[in-house]
Amino acid sequence: TTADWQAADAAHFLHPFTDFQSLAKKGSRIITKAENIYLTDSDGQRILDAMSGLWCVNVGYGQQALIDAATRQLKELPFYNAFFQTATPPAIELAELLAEVTPPQFKHVFFTGSGSEGNDTIVRMVRRYWDIQGQPGRSVIISRRNGYHGSTMAGASLGGMSAMHAQGGLPIPGIEHIDQPYWVEHGQHRPAPSRLKAGDPPRGAGDEGDLGAGISREQFGLVAARWLEEKILAVGVERVAAFIGEPIQGAGGVIIPPATYWPEIQRICDKYGILLVSDEVITGFGRTGRWFGCETFGARPDLMTFAKGVTSGYIPLGGVMVGERVAEALIERGGEFEHGYTYSGHPVACAVALANIKLIRELGLVERVHDDVGPYLAEGFESLKAHPLVGDAESCGLMGAVLLVKDKDGLKPFDESVGIGMVCRGHCFREGLIMRAVGNRMIIAPPLVITRAQIDEMMALIRRCLDLTLADARR
Ligand code: PLP
Repeated sequence: TTADWQAADAAHFLHPFTDFQSLAKKGSRIITKAENIYLTDSDGQRILDAMSGLWCVNVGYGQQALIDAATRQLKELPFYNAFFQTATPPAIELAELLAEVTPPQFKHVFFTGSGSEGNDTIVRMVRRYWDIQGQPGRSVIISRRNGYHGSTMAGASLGGMSAMHAQGGLPIPGIEHIDQPYWVEHGQHRPAPSRLKAGDPPRGAGDEGDLGAGISREQFGLVAARWLEEKILAVGVERVAAFIGEPIQGAGGVIIPPATYWPEIQRICDKYGILLVSDEVITGFGRTGRWFGCETFGARPDLMTFAKGVTSGYIPLGGVMVGERVAEALIERGGEFEHGYTYSGHPVACAVALANIKLIRELGLVERVHDDVGPYLAEGFESLKAHPLVGDAESCGLMGAVLLVKDKDGLKPFDESVGIGMVCRGHCFREGLIMRAVGNRMIIAPPLVITRAQIDEMMALIRRCLDLTLADARR
């Protein structure tokens, strides 16, 4: 029974990012089955999964092609490693296919078991690159406040989540952060007049100074990108190895940057010869309406981390796409790269990834997100702005966020003690919708196979949960 599962769960299973005691009191929701975009729990309730599991089930649940690929490969060769100058056919074929679907600078891949391991690999690889270049002093990697790059020591250090840093003495040395390009927070609605205009020297992280009202979203994008330039100059160009960012910050609350941001980041990286790393763990494999988020936002990264959508989450797999600049150094001049994982190129995971990518192509999912369901979702989100609880709503491809505010005028936030996001999430949970709360932002990233009719169903559920949350807030 559900109660039996909950008791055993509370007694033995330490869940990730969870307050163990409070979960034990409430009891877990036990998910037993899934099909297409719907989950079923142990009490038989149907739930619309607007988070694709954890941003990963791009092709939806129950795809026979992936199940068959895993079964075939498990029978044929369930495991072999890539350490002993050995390789397996699925790993080789996947490497070849990834070179085809990723931007043209990528011809090589380093496989890992997860996105966090991918970002650990990034840290080692960019430092190794500068060693090979005879500039070992270039070891600092710059990332962003409220970015998320995983939970290993290096991943959590690259990430800009202060709560994660507080536990475990992070960041590790050689990681610097700049502020995030969040227009609502910095640019759009600040009341005081600004002394800072786009083009002026930008401010650094931690400075709560005011950019002022009236700055356009596009101007703000340039200002936010130039925080990188300021940081590079403060650290010293000769010490900076790379900049890493998610095209859209996912776990930070689906923060969609202004269109000016990434091209300016690219220009700054080029100007100082710094490696640009795009963390595509969420934005990869069609999520934003192109195969990779960097293509949506106009950047040409040297390295790219991926995971999640590569297998639609059916089995763990991650990796790093290595662009020509780094590949040339590593391959031609690097000797042995002292790094790797038992599961780098796991044959079953690679077989599932191959089936998954082929299915994304067959179903034309990337084009569908770009031309059809992405714009349709954007219309739905635009209409949410009329709701009294909604201060802002935006989406890109099939990622979206709704900002909950106490007062739309000036986007006045609720007191943190209200926990407005969690109140809303609770209603979603009860009403049969999985939406995630990040502070006062409610976020979604549904499977790419979602139809227009299912988007209508999801939007109706979202509106209902917003109404219920509003009623609570007024009580
Ligand atoms: N990078 C980004 C952008 C992510 O969103 C995540 C996970 O959510 C990771 C890295 C870490 O991936 P994993 O949980 O597979 O280690």
